[in-house]
Amino acid sequence: MHLTATTVVGAGLRDLARLVVPVRCPGCGLWDEPLCSRCAHCFDGPPQRCEDDVPRLDRDPARLRGLDPLPVWALATYQGEARGVVVAWKDRGRRDLGRPLERAARRGARRLDDVVQAARGTAVHVVGVPTGTAARRRRGGDLVAGLASAVVDGLVRAGADARAAPLLRRAGGLDQVGLGARARGRNTAGSYVLARRPAPGALHLLVDDVVTTGSTLAACEALVSGSGGLVLGALVLAATPSPGRRTSSVAKGGTGV
Ligand SMILES: [Zn+2]
Repeated sequence: MHLTATTVVGAGLRDLARLVVPVRCPGCGLWDEPLCSRCAHCFDGPPQRCEDDVPRLDRDPARLRGLDPLPVWALATYQGEARGVVVAWKDRGRRDLGRPLERAARRGARRLDDVVQAARGTAVHVVGVPTGTAARRRRGGDLVAGLASAVVDGLVRAGADARAAPLLRRAGGLDQVGLGARARGRNTAGSYVLARRPAPGALHLLVDDVVTTGSTLAACEALVSGSGGLVLGALVLAATPSPGRRTSSVAKGGTGV
């Protein structure tokens, strides 16, 4: 096609951008779609419990005391299209995917009936897992903080009293990118510290983008609960399937907190 000034102006900014930088859906690779509707639906949920498939949650103090592991709800399984979308958002500069993923987190939080019911008459403090300095610089911000804000909004829309509670900060642990599961576990221990103490007995919900080994959630849960807070569980966008896990096992359904 021969481009004239008139046709370029007429194409509009979006189409002009496509002429310069072709856009593909990060899930399926479809051209000219920033995020196709099929891949966007990967995160439609409903949130499904997945903690039994998260290997390193068994290190958390509650399980060592013989209690049930921390409930973890995931909106998607971290594979295929869903994985492509999250990786593009986190590590390939697709900040524009933040908005649809935050919408998904908001929708998912509205459906966390167990958390909403547990919080009748009291507030839920939503704690985003903090991003390290290097990752924050690479990504241009703390993407999980945006998810946590969306979760607060979703819980409030569901009738809960919810508020953001940035209780944690990174303590100089190495960037996790490129580390294997065992190294991640070692790296995570001691990587987080309390920025401020939780109110005694206050309810908390952790939020992260992906749960892989569970060592991050276990470390954060230990900090909050070890300082007097009660952690109801964690909401993540996606959960890594454990080897041999049945495809349907992430669809275990919500149970009591
Ligand atoms: Zn797609």
